[in-house]
Amino acid sequence: MENNYQQLIQLISDNSGLPLDEIERKIQAKQAKLAGLISKEGAAQVIAAELNINFDKQLVKINQIVPGMRKINLIGKIINLAPIREYNKNGRSGKIGSFTLADETSNIRVVLWDENHIELIAKKEIVEEGTIEVENATLRNNELHLTSFSEIKNSDKKIENIVLEKPTIKKTIDKFQTNDEVSARAFIVQIFEPRFFEVCPECRKKVSATGECQEHGKIIPEKRALLNFVIDDGTESMRTIIFSDQLEKIMTKQDLQTPELFAIKKQDFLGKEMLISGQVRKNQMFNNDEFIVNNLKDINIDELIKELEK
Ligand SMILES: [Zn+2]
Repeated sequence: MENNYQQLIQLISDNSGLPLDEIERKIQAKQAKLAGLISKEGAAQVIAAELNINFDKQLVKINQIVPGMRKINLIGKIINLAPIREYNKNGRSGKIGSFTLADETSNIRVVLWDENHIELIAKKEIVEEGTIEVENATLRNNELHLTSFSEIKNSDKKIENIVLEKPTIKKTIDKFQTNDEVSARAFIVQIFEPRFFEVCPECRKKVSATGECQEHGKIIPEKRALLNFVIDDGTESMRTIIFSDQLEKIMTKQDLQTPELFAIKKQDFLGKEMLISGQVRKNQMFNNDEFIVNNLKDINIDELIKELEK
């Protein structure tokens, strides 16, 4: 988020012609005046409004998007178009579309709720690899949501060098802080037994014992797995959790559900050094940080050497 904040003040500076340090002073003064009731990103939004900077018509880059931003406009390339899914909510059914949108700075998941927008996907007017322009999107839970007030259309713009992976900051585990999006090179030093649970296929939240989703009502639950393990990079160790989507990149459902196969997989991974990316989250129950995996891969020696030579 610190990086996003820098992007935001840069955007304000570009639009107002004021130097960065002056904008920062204004933001600090605003925060002080509001007695800490507002985040610095929030204060930056207020300053932007006071300077008459209207982000409404402004195209932003994905890494400039910060919490609290509304009416987000951007151009990006669709890199991962998900099949249209149906949901049932309070007896009403609807459709939901989603994809990952990438530009030269980052990428973000986009969720579509409006039937007209979803129809564009169904009719293949909006396709994977296509470049699109999105207007008036809202940020919710780090995803862009498009409602009936939003617009989506194909764009002729060419975007070079799109970012396919979430850019993350590399850190050693002892430097991890809550809410960090980071990656680390670490050894897998302990692996626990996999656990299974059921989620709503629409929102991926856990379903009740009776198989119902709080938001989407009666649904056919999806069976999901998670695996707890411990990583250690020599500076510290950390409890780490990997969920189905990522987990299935390294072991199959059958591996997870068959104890004998799982035991073999476990031996393969114990002591292995990997590049692990994810988010540091506070576990409310134990009041300690844990690492939620977004991606993990083998250490590529060539890449490593390139990195060291930089
Ligand atoms: Zn649901």
